[in-house]
Amino acid sequence: MRAMQIIEWGKPLEFRDYPTPEPKGEEVLVRVESAGVCHSDVHIWDGYFDMGDGKKITLEQRGVKLPFTMGHEIAGEVVALGPDAKGVEVGKRYAVYPWIGCGQCAVCKKGEELLCMTPRTLGTRTSGGYGSHVIVPNARYCVDYGNVSQALAATYTCSGITAFSALKKIRPNVGVDDHFLIIGAGGVGGQAVHIAPAYLKGKMLVADIDAQKRAHARQMGAVGTIDNAAADAAQQVMQASGGGVAGAIDFVGSPKTMEFGISALRKGGKLVMVGLYGGAMPVPTVMFPFKMMTIEGSYVGTLQDLKELLDLGKAGKVPPIPIETRGADRATESLADLKTGGKVRGRVVMTH
Ligand SMILES: [Zn+2]
Ligand SMILES: [Zn+2]
Repeated sequence: MRAMQIIEWGKPLEFRDYPTPEPKGEEVLVRVESAGVCHSDVHIWDGYFDMGDGKKITLEQRGVKLPFTMGHEIAGEVVALGPDAKGVEVGKRYAVYPWIGCGQCAVCKKGEELLCMTPRTLGTRTSGGYGSHVIVPNARYCVDYGNVSQALAATYTCSGITAFSALKKIRPNVGVDDHFLIIGAGGVGGQAVHIAPAYLKGKMLVADIDAQKRAHARQMGAVGTIDNAAADAAQQVMQASGGGVAGAIDFVGSPKTMEFGISALRKGGKLVMVGLYGGAMPVPTVMFPFKMMTIEGSYVGTLQDLKELLDLGKAGKVPPIPIETRGADRATESLADLKTGGKVRGRVVMTH
């Protein structure tokens, strides 16, 4: 097998050849045909996450050793099964759920592997889809994507379920006459704009500082769009929604967008925080009781979320996001394009 690897943090990735691994026990070997390039790969490539105030968490502190193979948005063909692997067929194609826990602890047994304290996430902890082959610990993480395009199905394993699981968290709040607000309509927020009309009953409002993204959101079914750089952005939401939204999702995650999200809520509203922009902001404590509001964090999604999102996709209810296919030899260029920003519309999905 061949893997496009980080040899040195932040330096161009390089191809290395390795013996193709053999699946043991319940493991499954997948030949990777589609590997999405996610913005979080840029941080892994750098070798650290910025925690603000000059604080950093390094990947080495988390136990990641070089050379390392990234790639957590994977779809491909099952090519070999361990002796105890059941539930998938050799020669069939699947999207691979990457957010894998230990499989043994209380949260893993409930299907909430995201909350596991000893994760085995593909492409962030163990070798991922920037390699031509990936070992998946169990067949249950391989999900049939049916008639959904393979590259799109790959993006659903991270950016798709990140959007979907945030929408799920506001779904009970949003009735047919209610408005909901999506803040930030690029990347993951862009996925949400595509999924929301098929999944939520209420009326969609979308805030973005980019006029093109606002125009696209209206095409996707937004009843109103707001330039959240405008001084009166919160009043515009109040006006468009008749007194505030029942649910809002912040796909940016800056102090400014969070403040905007809170001020857009009506009484009893819920704000879900997804974006990892970073920073801090004070919230008046009395706002919680007076507004009876909820603020909740959301991070990627569960295996069940991936299945439900793919079901919506298979039913033809979710318009696909734009996808640019590139060879794995363009991994470094693709990461650099994401780092600079503005160069990728939708998602880059690499092929081997
Ligand atoms: Zn990701
Ligand atoms: Zn666990």
